Amino acid sequence: MTGKAAIWWEAGRPLEIREYPVPDVKPDGILVNLSLANICGSDIHFVEGRGPRLKGGIAQILGHEMMGTIQKLGREVKTDSLGQPLAEGDRLVYSYYSPCGQCWACFTGVPGCPNRYRRWLGVPADTPPHFNGAFAEYYYLHPGHWTFKVPQDLPNHVVSPVNCALAQMVYSIHRVGIMLGDTLVIQGAGGLGLYGIAVAKEMGAARVISLDKREHRLEMAKAFGADVTINVERMPQAQRLEMVRDLTRGVGADVVVEVCGSPDAVDEGMRMARVGGRYLLIGNINLDMAGQVDPGNAVRFSKTILAVSVYQQWVIPRALDLLVRCKDRYPFDKIISHTFPLEEINAAMDFARTGQPIRVALEC
Ligand SMILES: [Zn+2]
Ligand SMILES: [Zn+2]
Repeated sequence: MTGKAAIWWEAGRPLEIREYPVPDVKPDGILVNLSLANICGSDIHFVEGRGPRLKGGIAQILGHEMMGTIQKLGREVKTDSLGQPLAEGDRLVYSYYSPCGQCWACFTGVPGCPNRYRRWLGVPADTPPHFNGAFAEYYYLHPGHWTFKVPQDLPNHVVSPVNCALAQMVYSIHRVGIMLGDTLVIQGAGGLGLYGIAVAKEMGAARVISLDKREHRLEMAKAFGADVTINVERMPQAQRLEMVRDLTRGVGADVVVEVCGSPDAVDEGMRMARVGGRYLLIGNINLDMAGQVDPGNAVRFSKTILAVSVYQQWVIPRALDLLVRCKDRYPFDKIISHTFPLEEINAAMDFARTGQPIRVALEC
């Protein structure tokens, strides 16, 4: 028996569908038959060759936002990370990385372990158990990933963004801290920005101002509860800054969140925060892409700058619970706006790159 995988060779070369033998599981492993694998903003950077540990010339399976059903369960694996019993056929969601537990980041309890992708990025798909990325029919789960059974009433397309986009927003907004009645500015209304509106509101934000350059995304931001939307292509920067001040009695936003991935947005975001306000950076994942910032604006006005990547163990279960509890309050089922078969991954990537969809999923 074999399974398909989309192979990345190097930047500029289309992904290639290849077949690999479906592996047996070790006593402590889980083989997942993937249902959906989403194209996250960072996947677009990865395909262009900008990702940690990525080197051209080896068969690499990309993709990290996914969910599926248990195909084979190692005989020693009895439960998920919450102690809920697991059986073959159960739907599963899990962290796409596993901290090593041995490095200084792990010792000090921060979630940025530099070895967290050691079984994925830089590991060729030719090496058994082959299926180490999301853009494939299967995914081999080694011990060390946090696994969670999917609640029954959540459809696959609502669950597939949980292990990256939603978990990232739940954790990051927790870290930056919301005070009851805060006003937030969120730069970017893609999947992360939309989840950010819902999470901030649930945590007590009074008002969210959503910024994007695409009108249909801003419409979606309103559906998610944004109180004000600003189209950054239709309003010059000076006017945007003035508008945020006007909406906050001349003070500025309590919290500004960057999820647009543009270095050029950072200076503006920092300026939009009030004296003593907080600026949260999430979207600028690339190294060596500098923008111009005025650090004096942060120092003179005592602003806190916080950058967050990945999340901790407690996040996914609370994200799943949010989806169940609040499914009638936010249109979570609209985040995945388009689906493509895995075989059409190159077309799906091209379409995702246009910025037209909110989020694209591949049916594996
Ligand atoms: Zn992601
Ligand atoms: Zn580590």
